[in-house]
Amino acid sequence: MAPSVVIVGGGVMGAATAWRLAERGHRVTVLERFGPGHDRGSSHGSSRIFRLTYADPWYVGLALRALPLWRRLEEESGRPVLTLTGAVDHGSPRTVGKLADALRAAGRPGLVLSPAEAAERWPGLRADSTVLLHPEGGRLHADASVAALLSAAAGLGADVRHGVRVRALRRTGRGVTVETEEGGPVVADAAVVAVGGWSPSFLPDLVDGLPPLRVTQEQPLHFAVDDALEWPAFVHHPGAGFDEPGGVYGLGSEDGVKVGFHAVGPVVDPDHRDRTPDPAAAERLERYVRAWLPGLARAHPEPVTCLYTSTPDHDFVVDRRGPVTVLAGFSGHGFKFAPAIGELAADLVEGRSAAERFVLGRPLPAAVG
Ligand SMILES: Cc1cc2nc3c(=O)[nH]c(=O)nc-3n(C[C@H](O)[C@H](O)[C@H](O)COP(=O)(O)OP(=O)(O)OC[C@H]3O[C@@H](n4cnc5c(N)ncnc54)[C@H](O)[C@@H]3O)c2cc1C
Repeated sequence: MAPSVVIVGGGVMGAATAWRLAERGHRVTVLERFGPGHDRGSSHGSSRIFRLTYADPWYVGLALRALPLWRRLEEESGRPVLTLTGAVDHGSPRTVGKLADALRAAGRPGLVLSPAEAAERWPGLRADSTVLLHPEGGRLHADASVAALLSAAAGLGADVRHGVRVRALRRTGRGVTVETEEGGPVVADAAVVAVGGWSPSFLPDLVDGLPPLRVTQEQPLHFAVDDALEWPAFVHHPGAGFDEPGGVYGLGSEDGVKVGFHAVGPVVDPDHRDRTPDPAAAERLERYVRAWLPGLARAHPEPVTCLYTSTPDHDFVVDRRGPVTVLAGFSGHGFKFAPAIGELAADLVEGRSAAERFVLGRPLPAAVG
């Protein structure tokens, strides 16, 4: 009989892993504590950026691995999830130059523009110094992606259960036993734990070598404008005339143009966080919008909150200890890679070794950022 795998967490990473494992013939059970499409974790809402532009070829390769899987998911589920609007990187010429080099080295199309040329194409966006456009970037619909992944997994036989909170996971002689709050224990040959912001409370008793994980509440704003869906995805990299350390990202969505600072929010406990938007943080972002995004200056901003779970090196944790595979620390940039992470997780469950980059117990920089 095919091995059984219980997946704890039905956010994008658990859902993608369920899809990939179910396709490989495993008997999959997904246990998610909240309802479908809930907004308590990291994977909700109408938009996430998909882009290939990373200076590091490892991540370019991972995004290229994810791209055809997103398209396959659309075919299998019959739901559109990815719209390639093009994506723009601008700001520090050094940073943007490295992104252009990495794109070129991967043989993918990209176009370098001047700020004036960019302004002609996107009058709502004031670009800084050097501008790189790559057509294979765009928008993932976050809620639709998670729903499509879970429905594709269910279509392949996965048992997807919402409203089931896992209280404890124990390794047993031949696999794992999962205790839930809502019913009897679930016994399986292997487990995949993908609990997002709950990782710091859930994982330390289960695996060694976990890096420090910093859970923060981030607060982007949506600006409702008529042309929102025509906007490209964009990232403004600090270093030229702009010094916000983590930069600014944005993209069009059904809810308007979303704009956010990267990884600036306060540290929170996901079970006891005040999801009331912080007016000072909103005002700081609005100041940025007034200076750099003239196309949004008149629109009313609506805040949303969401969790980042960041590692010190911003690389993910995708590794296994015995029957337990851990997916954690997606550091505010994991969504685009989800089906590729699902493949890596399925490889681990089947006994293959982890990608060096993502292992537990790797050497880390001193400061948690
Ligand atoms: C504001 C914001 C913007 C972002 N923008 C981008 C972007 O543009 N591009 C990009 O690539 N990435 C982006 N990201 C990052 C990306 O969204 C995350 O990396 C990704 O969603 C993480 O998914 P996850 O499955 O690890 O976590 P989650 O989605 O939080 O899933 C974990 C799940 O585990 C469940 N769970 C927890 N404990 C238990 C338990 N005991 N029992 C059962 N279930 C449990 C939770 O309810 C939750 O549903 C962004 C993130 C945020 C917050």
